[in-house]
Amino acid sequence: MNVIRTTPPRPFDVTTVFPQLAPLARPATRLHPRPGSPSPYDSSVGGPLLWPAGQRWPYCDKWHEGPASPLLPVAQLYVRDVPLLRAPGRCDLLQVLWCPFEHPPEYKPTTASYWQTAADVTNLLTAPPQPSEVEYDGYVPEPCVLAPEQITEYPNYLDLSEELQQQLADWSTWRAAGVAVDDSYEIAPQEFYMDELSLAPGWKVGGWPPWGLTDPIPRFCVACGVAMSPLLTIPSNEWGADNKGWIPYEDQALAALDDARVSNPPGVQISGGNNLQLYGCPEFHPHTDLIQ
Ligand SMILES: [Zn+2]
Ligand SMILES: [Zn+2]
Repeated sequence: MNVIRTTPPRPFDVTTVFPQLAPLARPATRLHPRPGSPSPYDSSVGGPLLWPAGQRWPYCDKWHEGPASPLLPVAQLYVRDVPLLRAPGRCDLLQVLWCPFEHPPEYKPTTASYWQTAADVTNLLTAPPQPSEVEYDGYVPEPCVLAPEQITEYPNYLDLSEELQQQLADWSTWRAAGVAVDDSYEIAPQEFYMDELSLAPGWKVGGWPPWGLTDPIPRFCVACGVAMSPLLTIPSNEWGADNKGWIPYEDQALAALDDARVSNPPGVQISGGNNLQLYGCPEFHPHTDLIQ
């Protein structure tokens, strides 16, 4: 880790206004990928994987014209850098790959994830196979090093009870609490909750999922039926016009000058500006994913 990123504190603690949110707090780790030259021994986005020479490299199982397509590294996360990751057994490294094509019927890249035990990988694959072509650059992440930072999240507005949604949408509740909310939010104060107080934008592990494209759909493991939880969020930028309050202190000066250049160092674009949300099973069965 050679970079540090610090999310500014939220304007105020939302649980002082809505105490019902307190039990819904969840930890998340913002990854803050930034341009760099990660090695296989670093956590990274778009960097080389610590992949055992003796392990078969994964290929896409969907239909392709011509030969099967090797998957591309998307992220590798060492538990030492992201302690929030729960790993099976002795494993301490999560690797996520995808096929850089939008496959029907959902038009998303095919993803795969693997756990490794880093100390066991003594002979690593140095020249993994590369896809002969890619559909477009938005699915080829630029190599980035990470600056993991743990934060606290509250649920997406759509994940809340109807009662709590109504309270969040009632300007008088906010006013009565005497908290600083800009008057521009008077018509829809729940937007303030969504923009500034609930979910962090950008690459992250854990936390709450980003609904909006669809209503919430609980995700259940097909192998064991248990509810799955957010594992990794792969976004199309780290912030946008609505959530600039999440820009780390260290990026604010550059973002003010050239926002487009610094808000998305990996250059990933998920189906026109969405998130690809990976969900994990607590029993470590295969993950599932959803464009959100
Ligand atoms: Zn494919
Ligand atoms: Zn399962």
